[in-house]
Amino acid sequence: MEKENIFCVDNEGFRFICARFSGPTFSGLDFNKFTLSWKHSSNEVRRLLAHAASASPYDTSSTKSLNQTRTWTNQLLVSLYPMSTMILENCAQLEVEKARLTDNAYSIDELRNLDAPKVTSLEIVALKKAQVVCKSRKCVRYEVVGGKVEVIHKVCHKECNSKPNAGLERCLIFRQTNPGPGICELCLCPMKKHKRVDFEQKIVTRVTQSQQISMMPFTEMRKRLMHKRERLASEYSKELNYILFALATFSLFLDENQISKQTNPVKHQLQKLLDAEERHLSRVKNGDPKKVTQLRHLFQMYCENWEKLVDQNGKKVTIEELAIVRNKLFSMAHTGAKIAEIFEINVDTDHQESEAAVTRCEPRFYE
Ligand SMILES: [Zn+2]
Ligand SMILES: [Zn+2]
Ligand SMILES: [Zn+2]
Repeated sequence: MEKENIFCVDNEGFRFICARFSGPTFSGLDFNKFTLSWKHSSNEVRRLLAHAASASPYDTSSTKSLNQTRTWTNQLLVSLYPMSTMILENCAQLEVEKARLTDNAYSIDELRNLDAPKVTSLEIVALKKAQVVCKSRKCVRYEVVGGKVEVIHKVCHKECNSKPNAGLERCLIFRQTNPGPGICELCLCPMKKHKRVDFEQKIVTRVTQSQQISMMPFTEMRKRLMHKRERLASEYSKELNYILFALATFSLFLDENQISKQTNPVKHQLQKLLDAEERHLSRVKNGDPKKVTQLRHLFQMYCENWEKLVDQNGKKVTIEELAIVRNKLFSMAHTGAKIAEIFEINVDTDHQESEAAVTRCEPRFYE
């Protein structure tokens, strides 16, 4: 959008003509004002017609696929943020285990359990005091539990004292000095995205004994466990690098096609997530800085990837390139299937939310 292709038309001049021929008289001052307004509008219309006549035809199908690409790119981004933090968390856990293996700090039973298959399940635990959770897309987190992706709601107010039958307006989290009525202090989502629940979602992990490893001599077992951790850590960090490359590529694409409100939208989004976590940390007593540290790390890694990409990239990112990046993401050994699954969940929620308001004319692009 530039000055040359913006056309402003006043309605005053038109209204004046209609009014004048219906009877009322106008003073000289008003008359001059309306004349100016009419002249301005008429010049603008002339300019618009001249502009339209001189413009060359444009193939709208490329805009359409650009819009579709923007839609799925944004949906994919939603699944990439939680997956990157999950990888960082797994890597940190692997580092802890490697250090303990090096220090010989595990007992024989612990060693046996270290790689034993673990069964996780999502349990719903009844609470004595209700809590307020946020179900907005920005606040939920995704966890793979027992091979299935589960949606975990963000807890915004633990042990909420407001009466169960009273509306959420009574909950403190919406009442303190917040930016407006009905905004959650903690997550900044509107009240209607929240719900009072009297249960808690809990991920429970149980270890089952592995036969194969339990027969091995102690040192051999340690060596194998160590080796596996080293391999896993390197595979995870490769996947994380690819995710960050993908994030930067998507961001660059959105930039180059001027289809996002900010420049470098992913950086902006990461900054927002980081700010929200920092705000959260500053408000709770003895909060765990882990998430803030992780996000800072991601932010840093992202910026490095972005700079590298911008330096190299003389030509524009194409829609075809984006599709290749997406398919590569989906086929990654550890996180690919989860990224694809979260992506599908988001596409589904989007579909449900917009169904009433939007008539869909096109088959879905990603199918
Ligand atoms: Zn409350
Ligand atoms: Zn909230
Ligand atoms: Zn929220």
